[in-house]
Amino acid sequence: MGATFNFTGKIVIVTGGGSGIGEVTATEFLRAGAKVAIAGRKLDRLELAAANMRAKTGGEVLCVATDVRDLEQCQAMVETVAAHFGGIDVLVNNAGGARHAALRTMPLETWRQDMSLNLDSAFFCSQAAYPHLKASGEGAIVNISSLAGNNGTMGCGAYSAGKAGLQMLTRVAAAEWGPKGVRVNAVAAGMIATPLAMANWAKTGFDASKACTAFPLRRPGRPEEVAQAVLFMASDAASYITGETLIVGGGPQLKGMIDTDD
Ligand code: NAD
Repeated sequence: MGATFNFTGKIVIVTGGGSGIGEVTATEFLRAGAKVAIAGRKLDRLELAAANMRAKTGGEVLCVATDVRDLEQCQAMVETVAAHFGGIDVLVNNAGGARHAALRTMPLETWRQDMSLNLDSAFFCSQAAYPHLKASGEGAIVNISSLAGNNGTMGCGAYSAGKAGLQMLTRVAAAEWGPKGVRVNAVAAGMIATPLAMANWAKTGFDASKACTAFPLRRPGRPEEVAQAVLFMASDAASYITGETLIVGGGPQLKGMIDTDD
């Protein structure tokens, strides 16, 4: 996919940028002229992804080992990026993931892990990045939520609650930080065929092609299609949009009363 937006000279952080949607998003920001920092737990995995990104785009990538569930590591990551590149213009809170458990038997640890990975992390990174985003003059945060945060997913109760919470964190941060020129939006992804998602579907026996018949576009999304929405929300093209969640999910899942297929 070619560069649609211009981020020349902008500094972007993508958490969870070593794989899946985060990796593709970081690559698209590089193609659009940004300098990008990717943050994740394993430095060797990040470096591998960064080498691919540099080869594809010729862009500048910094890898910062960070567990986003830890406040101090998030603060240190943000300061490392700001010191290295000289500021921060865009933060993409993308790191996330779901554990599967029925609420009836879900261990407390599972609940806490999903809430901290999908919700605490965005609070930690956003709070740490805010002074730099404010100084940027056109700072933007994009939080990667999920349709599970809109509709809920059985068996992913903590994840669904965390992603719904992320959408509300988006609204409140937008309201508090908008007056200082920092926009905060979210992208709620639907069923996106990343390598790890596909491996997970195979493991749990989830039939993606059958599930796709429930929504208008009848196919899983591609990571690039989420990335383009993230770049839009972070770009000047969205300069009057804040506090919103954009769904990238193949369309609404409506039920009808008669057969309307042609
Ligand atoms: P992924 O597993 O490839 O990406 C998640 C990334 O987060 C990985 O790079 C992982 O290393 C990183 N990560 C996990 N725990 C971390 C931690 N404690 N500290 C730092 N980094 C950590 O999967 P993905 O599908 O690309 O997911 C990216 C985001 O998109 C997630 O927030 C996910 O919830 C969301 N999402 C994905 C889908 C989908 O169908 N793929 C749908 C809706 C939302």
